[in-house]
This record gives sequence, C-alpha cells and structure tokens, in this order.
Amino acid sequence: MGKERTPYGVALEQLRLAAEKLNLDPGIHAMLQVPKRSLTVTVAVKMDNGKIGVFQGMRVQHMDARGPFKGGIRYHPNVTLDEVTALSMWMTWKCSVMDIPYGGAKGGICCNPKGMSRNELENLTRRYTSMIFDLIGPYRDVPAPDVYTDAQTMAWIMDTYSQRVGYSVPECVTGKPISVGGSEGRNEATSMGVDICVREACKPLGMKFKGATVAVQGYGNVGWNAAKIAYDWGAKILAVSDSMGGIYCKEGLNPYKVNEHKKKTGSVVNFKGTENITNAEVLETKCDILVPAALENAITKENAHRIKAKIISEGANGPTTPEADDILYENKIMLVPDILANAGGVTVSYYEWVQNLEREHWPLEEVNKKLELKMVKAFGDVHALSKKEKCTMRIAALMLGVGRVADAIKTLGLWP
Ligand code: NAD
Repeated sequence: MGKERTPYGVALEQLRLAAEKLNLDPGIHAMLQVPKRSLTVTVAVKMDNGKIGVFQGMRVQHMDARGPFKGGIRYHPNVTLDEVTALSMWMTWKCSVMDIPYGGAKGGICCNPKGMSRNELENLTRRYTSMIFDLIGPYRDVPAPDVYTDAQTMAWIMDTYSQRVGYSVPECVTGKPISVGGSEGRNEATSMGVDICVREACKPLGMKFKGATVAVQGYGNVGWNAAKIAYDWGAKILAVSDSMGGIYCKEGLNPYKVNEHKKKTGSVVNFKGTENITNAEVLETKCDILVPAALENAITKENAHRIKAKIISEGANGPTTPEADDILYENKIMLVPDILANAGGVTVSYYEWVQNLEREHWPLEEVNKKLELKMVKAFGDVHALSKKEKCTMRIAALMLGVGRVADAIKTLGLWP
C-alpha cells in the first residue's frame, strides 16, 4: 500500500479544499484546523480477574459555534487522538450540513471490547464517564454510540451522569434504549439516511432503487441496517462483509438471515449458499450501489480505480481518501459523502434530545417523516451546489458545512 494520510490528515485536506473554494478568512481557517478542546484520560478499570486494566480514553470538542458539542464514542484497539480529532471535525460539518443546532465532538477509548466481559465494559464506561464528566452535559456536549458502543453503553453513561448530579438526566446522551428515553427509529436512523441518499442519488442518474444491486462493507449497526432497508425497498444485496471477511451471492442474499448467522457464529463468513470472498473483493464487487460502513481509509488511491459501483453512499466516517475522491469523480461515480450520507444518525439523536428536553415521546412515523424531510432537503442542497460549482458532492457538502460554521463564528465574534 502507498502512503495514505491519517484520518486527521484527510480531514485537514478536505477543510483546505473547502476553504479554498469558499475563500475562507485565514484566521477562521486556522481556528477550524484544530479542536477547541481535547482531553485525554487514563481509565483504570477493575477487571474480572481482580487485576487493574489501564486504558487511554479521550474526548475531543472541535467547534460549538452553532450549538452544544455532539458526537459518538468509539471503543476500538486502534483508537488514536488523531482519529478522534478527525471524527470530531467531521461531526461539526455534518451537523452544519443538516442544519442541526450542534457543534462537533467525538470520544474514544483504546481497548478491545470483543475481549472484555459485560461487567468490564460497564466498569470502563462508568469510569470514563466520570473522568470526562466536566466536559459533557445536555447543554455542553452530548455523546452517542459509535463503533463497538451501543444503546446499553449509552444507558450506563446516562446513569453515571445522573448519579453524579443527583437526578435523572436522559438528555445528557442519545442513542439510549427506548425504556430510558431513547427515540423510536434511532437504531436504524443512520442507515435509513444512507438509503434515502441512495434513493435520491438514483433520480438524477436515471437509475431505479428497486432491483439495484448492492454491496455493503461492515455488518454492524450501520451496515446491517443499510442492507436490510435496501432489501426491504427492493434492492438485491450481492455482497456484505465484516472484520472477518466477506460473502457473495450472485442471486442476492437475505440480510435478515445473514444477521441471524452473524449472531450465532460471530461473523457473516461461511453463510450457507454464499461464496466467501475477501474484504477487498466486497468493495470491488460489480454492483450499482456500494455502502462502505466499517472504518476510515477503505477506498484509497490503491483500489479506487477498481470500484465498479455507480453510487457510493458513505455509511462510515472517512472511508474515502481525497486522492480516491478524485479518481471516483473522474470515473463518474456519484459519491454521497459521509457528512451527508450518514447524518441520519445525528439527526434522530437531535430529535431524541429534543424529546427528552420536552419530556415527550414521538411515534416512529413522526420521527421517520421528520428524518426523511431533513435528508431530502440536505441532499438537494448539496447536489444543487455540486452542479453549480462543478465539484464533487463532498466538496459541495463541505462548502455548505464549513461556510455555515464560519458565518456563526463571525456573527458571534471573539470574546473575551
Ligand atoms: P459497529 O461497531 O456496529 O460495526 C462496525 C462493523 O464494521 C462491524 O461489523 C465490524 O466487523 C466491521 N468491520 C471492522 N473492520 C472491518 C474491515 N476492515 N472490513 C470490513 N468490516 C469491518 O459500528 P457502526 O456504528 O455500524 O459504525 C460503522 C461506521 O459508521 C463507523 O465509521 C462509524 O463512525 C459510522 N457511523 C455510525 C453511526 C451510528 O449511528 N452508529 C452514525 C454515523 C456514522
């Protein structure tokens, strides 16, 4: 593999490209290149064997000019401050593109959650929450799930925060279980947004969603739900993968059955009636729609030439490098960028927060209707700008996102 940028390197290059197009004030550009605040913490945890485990955790707050910080928490052995900083920046642009009143943040703990018991994960989560307690809160910074964290993790954060302040604060975190104030539709919201973007992208290309062929990289919350919704809407799922490898079936596979198989065996591989393929082959499958829904730097200058899909909808954050973006654009592949494609998650997180603050619980139909309207509007804005500026959808989305944040900074002014 050639030398690729780190996620933060990618985020800085994207910002540079948008700043150039926007003729951005150099001072504001300089402010946006770095997070407003970064905290690293050493999380000491009581492990099941009686020993102490020591983990590095962090919370990075990029920019809050448009509202409180918002962003997920990731548990993964490769979590670094570089990665979390990039993810926090992408959150700022994402909330801005969607016109949601939040700023961008992200958190992470460098750990191997697959090798930890439920009790150890609970201890880790509660200790981490205590250590970043001063930074978070319903009007400061509102965490949510990301890779290898889920609704249960959010419930532990809510409880730890609530115990510290002495009363229940469901609005301090989103992506919670419904039983403790979670929103209907949050679990599937990111993937719903990914598929709404695909549906909208099909229109100008004269393609039909129904019958389109799909490949999905990553079979976690985003990947599996994106495959399921696409299947429900009539698409044919040809290939999917997870960290263990991929599977392919020319006739199309049933994502529900693949999910059952993954629950039983821990992976999608070796699913009956499919052929095992590599992760690389999943990305390069001949199909209409590709959904990268795993981690960063999946599509690089090394493999971008071999991507055959007509539409890419980025479920993951940062799956494509700037060099790969150029190659895909030249090859006339329509790429719906992460800060738009996967923004359904933060949009319904925002609805969850609003419901919590109002002490309300909206029905699923209402949540989905609001999500649909927001996604279609944002897609339309970004697509129109990309046509006007003759640029990629990514640059158009960044122009919209960065531009609105820059306006907010200028309007607020600097004080003291
Ligand atoms: P998850 O932990 O539920 O799933 C991650 C999946 O990726 C797992 O199936 C894992 O096996 C797979 N994976 C890991 N490495 C892989 C590899 N090299 N090749 C193929 N598969 C691999 O996480 P998630 O919440 O689904 O998040 C996935 C991506 O979507 C991340 O980039 C995350 O930041 C982004 N995202 C998530 C949300 C959300 O609401 N959960 C919202 C916006 C963006």
